[in-house]
Amino acid sequence: MSTGLVSLRGVNKFFDEVHAVANLDLDVNAGEFFSMLGPSGSGKTTVLRLIAGFENASSGKIMIESQDVTDLAPFDRPVNTVFQDYALFPHMSIQENVEYGLRTRKVAKPERAKQALAAIDSVKLSHLSQRLPHQLSGGQRQRIALARALVLRPKVLLLDEPLGALDKQLREEMQVELKRIQREAGITFIFVTHDQEEAMRMSDRIAVFNEGSIEQVGTPAEVYERPQTKFVASFLGVSNIFSGDDAKVIFGSSTMVNIRPERIKLVPADTKLKVGESGVVGSIIESSYIGATTIYLIQTQSGQRVIATRLNEELPDQINRFETGDRVGAVWKSDHSAVIPT
Ligand code: ATP
Repeated sequence: MSTGLVSLRGVNKFFDEVHAVANLDLDVNAGEFFSMLGPSGSGKTTVLRLIAGFENASSGKIMIESQDVTDLAPFDRPVNTVFQDYALFPHMSIQENVEYGLRTRKVAKPERAKQALAAIDSVKLSHLSQRLPHQLSGGQRQRIALARALVLRPKVLLLDEPLGALDKQLREEMQVELKRIQREAGITFIFVTHDQEEAMRMSDRIAVFNEGSIEQVGTPAEVYERPQTKFVASFLGVSNIFSGDDAKVIFGSSTMVNIRPERIKLVPADTKLKVGESGVVGSIIESSYIGATTIYLIQTQSGQRVIATRLNEELPDQINRFETGDRVGAVWKSDHSAVIPT
């Protein structure tokens, strides 16, 4: 019945009248970097806590390695969790912090030290192993929290917004690091985030959550290029969604269609469409130069707004840029637009 390393079947979770997780099916494969992505309150953390065993499902079944763990206590499940606040012991050195879990498992001292130092080495902090947590930076503390979880060699590592407390630059560095560590350790990571770029950057697959349900599961390219719902199209990046009469005029059918801003080029309004191209004519109502790109907001006669992003490949004074007020054609290759089924 189950196919993943971690499988959820028909899982529901109610907090009084709040239906936090709604009849959820999910399969995470062995060795995968799997992200649960969605807005605040969509149920991601609750699913993570259900897998960890910190919450009990109201109904449904949770399997890990084909074992039914639905009724098992957290410490009886082959999983470990890394929290956003790191939860390091302040009075223990880094090495002692990492050794702690091994100590509770009664691993002998020399073996403990060996495994802890190897885990600290894997997060590239060997030179700091004798320091106390408060002597480390936020990013370093996050790495130690990771080493402390990895040293126990869980089958699955659960990570709840672990980079949330870091500033943007450090966060981006840690995203690359986390992916490297996951690949090298070969452990399945289940990662909760509300940041779509973060999820896309690291994940093998992403589950997009909305109101306690999963709207779509797929690779970053699949969920971005072929969103199956309007919510997924809008949540992952900027989308231009045509429907109803606008879609009928352009595509000959009123089915919902999405076209991403970077696929749209701007041409003078009287330019004829080539074979295999689609487009609309409108006026630029806003243009924002933001360094690498310029973002244009165009409004068609019917009132539909279209966002086009153009790469600034030339220096600003060499770009024959369109200006606010210009009438333009917003044109794209027809096979770059994607039908949204629901
Ligand atoms: P965030 O990104 O803000 O952490 P999330 O997607 O992880 O959001 P959850 O924390 O899983 O969302 O919450 C899902 C829903 O369940 C929300 O409506 C939340 O208010 C509710 N909820 C979560 N935990 C509890 C609780 N212990 N008691 C009552 N309601 C809860």
